[in-house]
Amino acid sequence: MKFKELVDYFERLEKTSSRLELTSIVRELIEKAGDEDLSHVLLFVQGNVFPPWDEREVGVAEKMMLKCISLATGYSEREIERKVAELGDTGLAAEFFFKKKAQMTLWRQELEVIQIYRTLEKIAGLEGERSQDRKIKYVVELLNSCDAREVKYLVRLILGEMRLGVGEGIVRDAIAKAYGVDSQLVERVYAILNDFGEVVKIARNEGNEGLKAVKPILGRPIRPMLALALHSINEIFDDFRPAQIEYKYDGMRSQFHVWEENGERKVLLFTRRLENVTRQFPDIVKAVKEAVDPGVSNCIIEGETIAIDDRGEPLPFQVLSRRIKRKYDIEEMVKKIPAQLHLFDIMYLDGKSWLDVSLEERRKKLEEIVKPIPGNVELARKLVTGDVQEAEKFYKEALDAGHEGIMIKNPKAEYNPGARVVGYMYKLKPISETLDLVIVGAEWGEGRRAKWLGSFLLACRDPDTGEFLTVGKMATGLTDQQLQELTDMLKSDILEQEGKLVKLRPRLVVEVGYQEIQKSPKYESGFALRFPRLIRVREDKLPDEADSLDRVARIYESQKKGRVKI
Ligand code: AMP
Repeated sequence: MKFKELVDYFERLEKTSSRLELTSIVRELIEKAGDEDLSHVLLFVQGNVFPPWDEREVGVAEKMMLKCISLATGYSEREIERKVAELGDTGLAAEFFFKKKAQMTLWRQELEVIQIYRTLEKIAGLEGERSQDRKIKYVVELLNSCDAREVKYLVRLILGEMRLGVGEGIVRDAIAKAYGVDSQLVERVYAILNDFGEVVKIARNEGNEGLKAVKPILGRPIRPMLALALHSINEIFDDFRPAQIEYKYDGMRSQFHVWEENGERKVLLFTRRLENVTRQFPDIVKAVKEAVDPGVSNCIIEGETIAIDDRGEPLPFQVLSRRIKRKYDIEEMVKKIPAQLHLFDIMYLDGKSWLDVSLEERRKKLEEIVKPIPGNVELARKLVTGDVQEAEKFYKEALDAGHEGIMIKNPKAEYNPGARVVGYMYKLKPISETLDLVIVGAEWGEGRRAKWLGSFLLACRDPDTGEFLTVGKMATGLTDQQLQELTDMLKSDILEQEGKLVKLRPRLVVEVGYQEIQKSPKYESGFALRFPRLIRVREDKLPDEADSLDRVARIYESQKKGRVKI
């Protein structure tokens, strides 16, 4: 396809913002483009040169582009820069100077789409000392093959500033319309292949049946299945019962592609956003090589990688993210921030897709083919239950162990790539809004803990009366050291004691996390915190700065709104 013809479509797309019209123009384009060009054209129209899972980047920034336009037109970089500032768009500025420039070449070979792609691919592959100069040379050559109309879009494409309003949803609908196939199926297959060009060919040649038969490709990441949020443990069996409940680990979604090559096991690791992070995690990659049964010739498995401290306790995602970003001194990072993998799914095994298999069977298979390496590669903790109390106990256990919450999965459901839909997978984590509360009472412990205060009675502030109204009891998840510290801090505040129970002067403010807030007659505020846990002592706060009853009520109202898509 000639670039000139593609530019006709770009111009038409740019003129409209109507979704229907955009879809119908893209549909025409799909029908017009030849097989060789399809993938590129469908990426270009969305403003991309490479697919999302491809690490390559064209790597030509604004400044270099100004230089290229200057070389191609003979106008100075300063003049061009001024025009860009005036028009607010480098593409338009390039068009302006191309219109002005004397047409030197009377005969010009018309640019082909594939030629543009191949040159951009070459540019992306340039490395080393003289790569800047060579990049410039290639870009100038491309620009010189354009007329003013074409150059505007070429410049925008190279700079990643296409903005035609065409997203994945529009391309999906255009394909569905063009070949009369199911648009949800198109979406699913795109989530597996991540290449609309290939999806078009299957839709056109084999229709819905062909699309249904698509299986994952080793080495190419699949979009992971996503979760809907629940707001209360009471919702967990709304859509299916029993459920497979798993710990929710706070780390990096990790998709492993494992296969044999020349007698050697190869592993690639992709993130939720399909980035290839194999190089950043040599420790985890090595562990996966060892943990997957040697009898398995290839597979795609999934889990969550977390950072751990030197005692093996989980650390928050922010810590791990330093490893994801780091591109050098990787071995040093491996030592500094040890990682741990928790596997929970399998999507492909020995040449066959496992996407359509139920979760309970997938999990069984995963357990068969993975031999955990304790502390290094483990299987996600799971519980299959239909009992709310058991589920709640498991949830609490996950939080007490320092994890983020739980995932609730339908044991009968297949793997739904890229989708966040009802009936498959949910997540439940404590409300992230913490409360600053005053400790107004406590209880002496028993046995080993007799010397410490425990079971702390928490209260919020009534702004009208200045009184403190109880809202819950914080009893579990405290370390010995925390108990000791709190006891030391509170001892002098004891006002009265009755048996083991003590009444405390409302003085010490603590920041508290919890699972949810419920209405309850048990406490003076009329609310009860479910599973409150200590985040930290707020020595910097006075009791009259503690959170008010209003705030507790507001959070209660907002959490009641129920299930939301996040
Ligand atoms: P969120 O990022 O809050 O939407 O929660 C979903 C994410 O939780 C997934 O993308 C995973 O990265 C992560 N996760 C942690 N543990 C699990 C698990 N056992 N099963 C599925 N996802 C998990």
